[in-house]
Amino acid sequence: STYLMWFRSDLRISDNTALYEACNNGQVIAVYLLFPEQWQQHDDSPNKIKFQLAQLEDLKQALNELNIPLLIKKFHHFNEAAEFLLSTAKQYQCSGLFFNEEYGVNEINRDRQVHQAFHQAQLTCQSFTDQLLFTPGTIKNQSGNFYKVFTQFKRKLYEKLSVVNRLPLPTPAKQKKLNIKLTQDSLALDYCNKAITKLFDHWPIGETTAQQRLQLFINDKIVAYQENRDFPAQPATSQLSPYLTAGIISIRQCLHVARSANLGEFASGKSGITCWINELIWREFYKHILVGFPQVSKHQPFLAETQLIPWSNDSDLLKAWQQGKTGFPIVDAAMRQLVATGWMHNRLRMIVAMFLTKDLMLDWRLGEKFFMQHLVDGDLAANNGGWQWSASTGTDAAPYFRIFNPTNQSKKFDPQGQFIKQFVPELQQVPIKYIHQPQDYLQQNQLHNTYPIPIVDHSQARERVLSAFKQLKEAK
Ligand code: FAD
Repeated sequence: STYLMWFRSDLRISDNTALYEACNNGQVIAVYLLFPEQWQQHDDSPNKIKFQLAQLEDLKQALNELNIPLLIKKFHHFNEAAEFLLSTAKQYQCSGLFFNEEYGVNEINRDRQVHQAFHQAQLTCQSFTDQLLFTPGTIKNQSGNFYKVFTQFKRKLYEKLSVVNRLPLPTPAKQKKLNIKLTQDSLALDYCNKAITKLFDHWPIGETTAQQRLQLFINDKIVAYQENRDFPAQPATSQLSPYLTAGIISIRQCLHVARSANLGEFASGKSGITCWINELIWREFYKHILVGFPQVSKHQPFLAETQLIPWSNDSDLLKAWQQGKTGFPIVDAAMRQLVATGWMHNRLRMIVAMFLTKDLMLDWRLGEKFFMQHLVDGDLAANNGGWQWSASTGTDAAPYFRIFNPTNQSKKFDPQGQFIKQFVPELQQVPIKYIHQPQDYLQQNQLHNTYPIPIVDHSQARERVLSAFKQLKEAK
């Protein structure tokens, strides 16, 4: 029999659970559906979409070598998926459909409709856990609830991982050639015209590229990851996030290679390796949170009481932050990195998110949205988790009184101002001594028109936000 394999955020042929299972069951026809309007509603960035659609071209070639034909069809919204998939299955006399699970609330609803449609038509519809090591809902506390605290979640996950290894699956074998010709709608979307021009210089596509990135990171960087990962001037992290988000590489492949470099261990051994695996578990944690607490998928804070924080919507402040013109060099350099490359270093994501929510007291959802609109690795769970952590509205979030001082963060994590100078050319000539607070130097050298004065006074802003959170506590 023949089956449809519906590709979504799993754009690879190696270690792809649904593809592997479909191929084990019979002949396979692959399908990819475009939903530009829906993606835009989700604020998926032109960078991310362009990157993923380019990867789709690569995937098409790889599937071709396996004799798996690919059907590409453009729609508007998710609710058009079920009917089309069912009629396609019927048209090609398929016995059913296979796909890997996604966890946003709209994705879950879409997939439920698809399951129902196939069920009613008495056709198989099988979906798989593939993005994650463990299915959301299988890691719970003793009361049967989802964990809200990362360390507890991780402890439980590690218990499970010590019993069931999660090994990558092989690439399916070449199948017999199917004698069909499928339509392929154009992948050119106007929406992608706004992507950065050097997208593929920063983020070359391809499964092989992703595997090479992983291998290079494991060979050269992972051992020192713990010491170096917080310094944005050094490329000390894996930069695999766009590949993980698009599913060009799998979580099992990452974990397996890291464990192999650590004698099979994940919780002990080389600290750089355990530290990196710990980050992979944060990714896991936030996706489980998305399923356990769907309000976070609907623009709601995880902590309902923080709904009452009087966040501001000041558009001038927002614009200064977005354009990297706040007068805080580390914040500005970070924001310009985001706009120029579609990616931002993790330490900087925390700094700019904390700055937007605590120094500017702007609504965290404005920051979350702007990130999604630019990130090539934009992921609802991780992005929302990161933003709600910074805003102190989330699960296991930063306690509201622990507020980053952006200047101290800058001194600590970009001590030579190397990163700042890379992205803020106006500060190129500023000596190291002044780089974190350049205004006096600029003034003395009559360069004050070249770079903004700080848009906020950090200590005053700190008091303001502390008092807002305290009022909330008192009212409770
Ligand atoms: P590495 O340090 O090499 O880590 C390896 C992988 O682990 C990453 O590729 C990523 O998949 C995962 N990971 C690492 N840190 C985290 C984390 N804190 N939460 C969840 N997963 C993590 N990550 C995204 O993938 N997409 C996002 O949209 C996103 N938005 C964020 C927004 C904010 C405000 C913050 C604070 C963090 C956000 N992160 C997001 C998490 C993190 O910043 C990125 O995953 C990381 O910077 C990617 O770089 P890397 O691949 O070199 O990471």
